Amino acid sequence: MRTPRGFAFSGINCGIKAARKDLALVYSEAPCAAAGCFTVNASRAAPVRDAAARLPAGGMHAIVANSGNANALVGPGGERDVREVCEAVGKALGVSGDKVLAASTGVIGVPLPASKLVAAAPQLASSRGGAIEQAAQAIMTTDTRVKLASRVVTVGGVEASIAAFAKGSGMIAPELATMLAFITTDLAVTPAALQSALKRACHASFDMITVDGDMSTNDAVFALANGLAGNSLIEEGSDAHAVLAEAMQVICIELARQIAEDGEGATKLVEVRVAGAPDEAIARDLARAVAGSSLVKSAIFGADPNWGRVLSAIGARVGSHRWPVDPTRAAVSVQGTSVYEGGAPTGVDAVALRARMREPHVLIEVRLTEGAASAVSWGCDLSYDYVKINADYTSLTHASPDGTVARDDRLTNYSPGFKRALLVEALSYISKFTNKRAVVKYGGAAMVKDSLKASFANDINLLRSAGLLPIVVHGGGPEITHTMEALGHGKSEFVDGVRVTGREDVKVVEMVLTGRINTELVSLLNQSTANAVGVSGKDAGLLRARKLIGDGGRDLGMVGEVTAVNHELLEVLLEKKYVPVVSPVGLGADGEGYNINADAAAAEIAIALRAEKLIYLTDVPGILDNGELVSEISATQLSAKIAAGVIKGGMVAKARSVLRAIEGGVAMVHILDGRTPHSVIAELFTDRGVGTLVRRD
Ligand code: ADP
Ligand code: MG
Repeated sequence: MRTPRGFAFSGINCGIKAARKDLALVYSEAPCAAAGCFTVNASRAAPVRDAAARLPAGGMHAIVANSGNANALVGPGGERDVREVCEAVGKALGVSGDKVLAASTGVIGVPLPASKLVAAAPQLASSRGGAIEQAAQAIMTTDTRVKLASRVVTVGGVEASIAAFAKGSGMIAPELATMLAFITTDLAVTPAALQSALKRACHASFDMITVDGDMSTNDAVFALANGLAGNSLIEEGSDAHAVLAEAMQVICIELARQIAEDGEGATKLVEVRVAGAPDEAIARDLARAVAGSSLVKSAIFGADPNWGRVLSAIGARVGSHRWPVDPTRAAVSVQGTSVYEGGAPTGVDAVALRARMREPHVLIEVRLTEGAASAVSWGCDLSYDYVKINADYTSLTHASPDGTVARDDRLTNYSPGFKRALLVEALSYISKFTNKRAVVKYGGAAMVKDSLKASFANDINLLRSAGLLPIVVHGGGPEITHTMEALGHGKSEFVDGVRVTGREDVKVVEMVLTGRINTELVSLLNQSTANAVGVSGKDAGLLRARKLIGDGGRDLGMVGEVTAVNHELLEVLLEKKYVPVVSPVGLGADGEGYNINADAAAAEIAIALRAEKLIYLTDVPGILDNGELVSEISATQLSAKIAAGVIKGGMVAKARSVLRAIEGGVAMVHILDGRTPHSVIAELFTDRGVGTLVRRD
C-alpha cells in the first residue's frame, strides 16, 4: 500500500492488553493541517473532547491512539491523562505536546493506565516506519481484521496519495458509527478545507453505517495533510477541493463497508439503497432504519427471505414522522430479485432467493415513488455471536490494578444459567458416548489451514478425554496434486472424486500420504496427549485391496478397492486407548500398493470396527441441494440424489462411501464443515448437530 510522503506509522504493545498491540502512532515529519469529526454522544471520552476542541488546526505532527481502554466516563483524570500522553509522545518525537492528538477505544469506565503509555512513548516513536498495517493492528478491539484503504490522486498536475485505516466493530451507529479512522495525505490543504472535505466524506460513509444502533463514546475520524506532494494549497470551494473531497469519500466508504462487514458477530455485509424519496434526509433515515432493524438483520442472518420486514421498518419511520411517503406503493428487491412491486408481492421463488441470501453480501433496494432523493446505508446481520460477544463483555474483561485489560472468555465467566444449561446438556451426551468408536475422515480445508489443524487436534484430544474412541483416516488430495506436479507427473484426472493413478503415480501417493501427511498429523496430535499412532493401510495388512474398475469398465490405474480390513491391529490400539491415524494405502495380493479413496477407506474401517459414528470433515457445509444444506437425509433419498446428479465431483465418492457404511451397519454418518472450528465437537455433543446426517431408512 502506498503511503503519503513524510508519514510514518507504528504499532506496539504498551501493556494495556496482555500481549496484543494496543498503541498506535501516526506521525508526519512536516507539520499538518488537521481535521476531525467526532461522536455527538454527550458522554464522550476525554480524548474526543480534547481533539474536538482543538480541530481544525494547522501545525499538527502526530496522533497517538490506544486500544483496550476508552478513557471514557473516568472522571476528571481522563483529560489529564490525555495531556500527559500527548506530552510524552511529543517529547519522544521531538515536537511540542500540543502538536499531538489522541484517540482511545476499548472498555468504558476504567481509568487509562497513562504511565504505561508514557513509558512506551520512546519505543513507539523509535519503531515508526512505512508500515501502516502496524498502526491499523494496534487499534483493533473486537475487529477480526485490519481495515485499510488508499487512493492516488492528481491535483493540479501533482500526484499525491491518500492512505487511511480504521477499526469497528460494535457500538456502531449512525452519526459516526466505536470506530476510529485516520486519513493521511501529502496534499497541501488548508485546515478549513480539509475539515469540510472530511465532513462530506463522513456524511456519505461513516454516518451511514450501523452494526447495532448503539452510538459510541469514542468515535473519531481524523485527517492529516502535510503538503509534501508540493501542490498549490487547496482552498475551500476550488476544483482541487472537489477532487480531494471525492477521493476522501471513496476511501471512507471503502472503510465504512469494511467496518459493517466485520461488525461484531457479523456473517454478512448488508447494503440498503433507498431511492425515490422526497428529500435526502428522509432517504438517509429510511436506509438506516432498514439496515438497523433487528428483525431485518436476524432474517438476513438466517437467509430468510422475509422481505415484509423491510417495508414494515420503512412504514414505521414514515408513520411516526408523518412523512409524505406511501410505502405500499414502493418496489422492493433483494439481491436484485423483485419481491414487491406495484402495490403487491411478486410471488418470488423463496427457495432460490434463500440460496442467494446465503451470499456474503446482501443487497436490499427500495424504490419509493415520491421524489428523486436517494441514500445508501451499510450494516450487517444480527447473529447469535453478537449477543455472545456483548452479553458478558465487562464480566469477561478484567482490568487489573496495574491497568492491564484482558479478556477471559472461559466458561467460568459466563452467566450461571448459561453454564448450567451447557454443562447439563454436554454431560448427558458425553456419558452416551463413553467407549463408543467414531471414525473421523479428515479432509478438505481442515487439513490445510493451521488454525483449523490445531482445533482438529484439540477436538480429537477432547473426544478421547471424554471417553470416546476416535479413529482418524486422512486424505491428502491437494498435497498429492502439488507433489505430482512438482515431480513432473502432470495433472491428475478425477473421476467422481477419485484420482486416476498411474503405476509411477502410486509411489508419489504413498510417499505423500504415509511419509508426509500421516507423520505430520501424528506429530500434531501428539503435541498434546492424543497418543496417536500412525498406521498405513499396509501395516499388518490393515487394508487389503484389489484393482477398482470404474463405472462402465473405466480403467482408473492403481486405484484400489478394499477387499478386507484386518482390524485386529486397530483393536489392540483402541484397547490401550491409542488413537490410530490411518493413511489410506491398500496392499494388493501381488504386494503392490493401491491408492484408496480416503472416504471409502474410512467407511470400510468404520464397518469393520462396528463404529457408532462415521464423520466426514470436508470443505462444504454438508450435502447441498440447490444451494440449501440438507440437514438430514435417509440412505434411499441419498441414492436418489446421486442418481439425479445433484451430487457431483468429490461428493460422489463421499456419498457412495456413506451408503456403503450404512449398508455395512454404521448407524449414523455425518458430513460436516471442517472450515468451522470444533465442528466435530458441535456434532457429537449437541442435539441437532451441524452439517448433514445420513440415517438408515
Ligand atoms: P474432501 O477433501 O473432503 O474429500 P472433495 O473435494 O473430494 O473434498 O469433496 C467435496 C466437494 O464435493 C465439495 O467441495 C463440492 O465442491 C463437491 N460437491 C459436489 N456436489 C455437491 C453437493 N451436492 N453437495 C456438497 N458438495 C458437493
Ligand atoms: Mg475427496
